[in-house]
Amino acid sequence: MELEKLLNKYFGYQTFKTGQKEVISSLLGGNHTIAMLPTGTGKSLCYQLPGYCLEGQILIISPLLSLMQDQVEQLMKFGEKRVIALNSFLDPEKRGYVLRNLTKYKYIFVSPEMLSLPIIINKLRALTVSLFVVDEAHCISQWGYDFRPEYSKLGEYRKKLGNPLTLALTATATKKVRDDIIQSLDLQEYNKIESTIDRPNIAFYVEDVPNYQDKQSRLIELVQQLQKPGIIYFSSKKIAEQTASLLAEKGISRAMPYHGGLDQEQRILIQQQFIHGQLDVICATSAFGMGVNKENIRFIIHYHMPMQIESYLQEIGRAGRDGDASIAILLYSPGDEQLPVQLAESELPSELQIDWLFSCFPQKEILNDHFLEVNQHLREDGGFSEVQWRIIQDFIKKPLGFSNNEQLKHSLKEFVNERIKVKKVSIHYLKKWIKSKSCRRDLILDYFDEEAVKGNVKNCCDVCGVQIDQYQATESNQGYPASEGMWKDYLANILLNSELSE
Ligand code: ADP
Repeated sequence: MELEKLLNKYFGYQTFKTGQKEVISSLLGGNHTIAMLPTGTGKSLCYQLPGYCLEGQILIISPLLSLMQDQVEQLMKFGEKRVIALNSFLDPEKRGYVLRNLTKYKYIFVSPEMLSLPIIINKLRALTVSLFVVDEAHCISQWGYDFRPEYSKLGEYRKKLGNPLTLALTATATKKVRDDIIQSLDLQEYNKIESTIDRPNIAFYVEDVPNYQDKQSRLIELVQQLQKPGIIYFSSKKIAEQTASLLAEKGISRAMPYHGGLDQEQRILIQQQFIHGQLDVICATSAFGMGVNKENIRFIIHYHMPMQIESYLQEIGRAGRDGDASIAILLYSPGDEQLPVQLAESELPSELQIDWLFSCFPQKEILNDHFLEVNQHLREDGGFSEVQWRIIQDFIKKPLGFSNNEQLKHSLKEFVNERIKVKKVSIHYLKKWIKSKSCRRDLILDYFDEEAVKGNVKNCCDVCGVQIDQYQATESNQGYPASEGMWKDYLANILLNSELSE
């Protein structure tokens, strides 16, 4: 059947969005495919539709539980019932049932952690996986802005599953990251389908504010003025929390924080409430976003400076998926770059921590991951964060061929320093972008080796003359009354048991 007919039959759409047909045709032609398509362009359809043409199962590896949940719901909405998400949400009883009946499912979503369990991979090996999908594939690359160590083993799992036809999906990846994805998944031959990262309906706006106090009051003013719904991004859970409360005090009651310190159920609940229009503003950390499939987000504000252009684009890309005019505002005060630098450094183990770790180990043998595994207490004793510990474990696991610990230690320090350097270069680039007097859109396109738009976008950026007033709320576009006592109590209850770790 013609692809358009399938599109209409199973999804009710008339035409493909940019890139979808190319990706699907490539896959149905039996080619491994790496697709870089902007957020909101319907990447999921690129594996959903082939499910109706290919025998066997479509296995989708997804990095976040909330994202997975969203994708499962999306398929169910289209009437597809043969969908399951294998993640920690499944209670043991259901999990047992699902594992015994895997062939009944067409679309199997799985987290990389689950995939690492021998029982899961063995069950999956018994299936015919006709398409192996790596969603948010940039998470594979150590140089990607959202590196997830669990993702680096996907090549290994793919091999265990007999190297099935593979689709790697991402919205933002530089050439270096794309090369890493291909290498890590061990794709010998593949098709590459890329479309522009530009989203012409999102205007860029950078505003200088002299200090933090002014930034806070300016933020409140903006949120009061702007058409909603919107998301405010923070680098600190605590400030996200505080701002949500402050907004409530100022009469913007339908605002909630969202960050990794909240437990999973609360996070999913808040996300769903936002998606279904019961909340106007989310004060979020980067934990919020992947898979937030909400079409009418009108503004994204960055209160803190992001760590790199890629994550910035990903975050602002959540606005304006309906194609309507939306704005991305970044508030900058002098010295803001210190926070991302500190965060970048703290993600990696320090030289002192590395020295300490090696001093705990008998010099005669080479430090190995088994030692770290059985001496988990060292993680706490040395003050390593979970991410730092995983970075060390992953580094040590690689077959590096060193004959003594001094060499290994030196090489680990070199690796850490190199990563910090890469991160600092990204932060420096972003600062240059903030301070630049050239078109902000063109600078970003240049970063991704794309052609400049040269003034051809209607509401482009502050440098090209965009005014914030154009994005103000009016009587007709303001969805809900500002204060709803019952609603406030309800939301307060949700947060009652949340653990705030910062
Ligand atoms: P992303 O690229 O961010 O992963 P999604 O796959 O979540 O985007 O899709 C975004 C929205 O676009 C969804 O609501 C989806 O149903 C819709 N969509 C996907 N393909 C089409 C199409 N061909 N025509 C119209 N809407 C589509």
